Amino acid sequence: MAELITPVLPDDLRRRLVEAAVAARQRAYSPYSGYAVGAALLTAPGTLYTGCNIEIASYGATVCAERTAVFKAVSEGESDFRAIAVATSNGAAPCGICRQVLFEFAPSLIVIVANAQGEVLWEGTLSDLLPLGFGPQKLAEGQRAGS
Ligand SMILES: [Zn+2]
Repeated sequence: MAELITPVLPDDLRRRLVEAAVAARQRAYSPYSGYAVGAALLTAPGTLYTGCNIEIASYGATVCAERTAVFKAVSEGESDFRAIAVATSNGAAPCGICRQVLFEFAPSLIVIVANAQGEVLWEGTLSDLLPLGFGPQKLAEGQRAGS
């Protein structure tokens, strides 16, 4: 039986990511929920993109911290992601929509969940959070298989 290999981040890089997520959380615009979230996304080449949640009075227009970071990176031409750290008051994992967006670009992404004090509460892969995820590969396979 093949051994499952979980990608691991070096401690200094994990710390840098978590600190960036905690700092990004300070910039959250969350006047409606009061639930501030920060994210820090590490690309394979080593660039860091941060994001915070941005709530809008028309709630459907709200965007999460994770997606803010992803969209910033993609809009700058980067889509090869290695890891993301997310910081909230109570150490919540990314929501379902963000898991789907992250899966589009990085099914084996390392995900670090931290609280506002920077304590790491969980670390794993996106596949742990979104097993059997649907992404571009499944779409292409389905198209080849026909309808
Ligand atoms: Zn989300």
